[in-house]
Amino acid sequence: MAEKVLVIGSGPAGFTAAIYAARAELSPFMFEGFQAGGSPGGQLMTTTEVENFPGFPDGGISGPELMDRMRKQALDFGTRSVMEDVTSVDLSQRPFKVTTSTQTVEAHSLIISTGATAKRLWLDAENDFWSKGMSACAVCDGALPPYRNKELIVIGGGDTACEEAQFLTKFASKVYLVHRRDELRASKIMGQRTLANPKIEVIWNHNLVDVKGDGWVETAVLENTVDGSKKELSCSGIFYGIGHKPNTGFLEGQIATDETGYIEPLQAGSTATSVEGVFACGDVVDQTYRQAITAAGSGCAAALDAERWLSEQGIE
Ligand code: NDP
Repeated sequence: MAEKVLVIGSGPAGFTAAIYAARAELSPFMFEGFQAGGSPGGQLMTTTEVENFPGFPDGGISGPELMDRMRKQALDFGTRSVMEDVTSVDLSQRPFKVTTSTQTVEAHSLIISTGATAKRLWLDAENDFWSKGMSACAVCDGALPPYRNKELIVIGGGDTACEEAQFLTKFASKVYLVHRRDELRASKIMGQRTLANPKIEVIWNHNLVDVKGDGWVETAVLENTVDGSKKELSCSGIFYGIGHKPNTGFLEGQIATDETGYIEPLQAGSTATSVEGVFACGDVVDQTYRQAITAAGSGCAAALDAERWLSEQGIE
């Protein structure tokens, strides 16, 4: 028998959708994927303290613990979950078919919350220093004590990198923006603000090629993209701002996305997609806010939209 609601993806958006769908007695089924480099739970699994999720006033909560709690809440209300990556979907007719390496499940409605993955450079040094001075989210990690009043580096030249650099100046003594070209990609206003900020120094035409330190980032090794020369820069943190990739490859073009692969909502303010009965929430539709709390909020909206749609179809 087809599931009423199948949730794909297990970050804050997916678990919130599952909690709402479970409490609406829709008995949701969830595929928890492995998108964050090997662990269900999404991008929060790779961050340390989360201090900006409301409700945790005394020092915040660790990313993995927050996800554990959301997961428990979803399962306690009756979500059935399987830790498998979805490899393909067939949205050509209802019920939809969702396939993993071991099974195909049919569902009347889908909630897609597969998130986005922050791009990395995949330097060997990331194995040693990720979450120990290296991060892809300044808003998540930048206010933590090890980064305060220290010299920090942001990699990239787009809006994300400029926004991260400006955000970090609230805490850091100085921020170096390391960009591989001699011109920013960021929007004009964002670029102007960045260049005008006295705490930001742009290092043009350089790539990060290695990181050194004793258990925490201490030195960035930069390579000049013009003449290949290398130099070392002392710092206590390195933040990647080189873009995100939405996890939508498994959809194989069956849902409308923008040119970079983010799912496009059918209309503003709704989680409905171009395929009736398929809803999307969290970072897989959001290039702007990308926060756990905004993802959770849109997960709630997706569950309410799915519930309403199922009811209109007479599937209760
Ligand atoms: P972008 O793709 O716009 O920029 C990525 C930046 O990272 C570029 O400067 C790029 O360099 C650099 N980069 C990419 N790969 C590498 C690499 N391997 N090594 C070194 N540098 C690399 O991504 P963003 O996340 O900045 O922005 C995505 C979209 O979201 C944009 O449309 C942006 O406008 C929007 N956005 C809007 C915000 C706002 O309005 N507040 C905030 C954040 C994002 P190069 O320039 O050489 O290609």
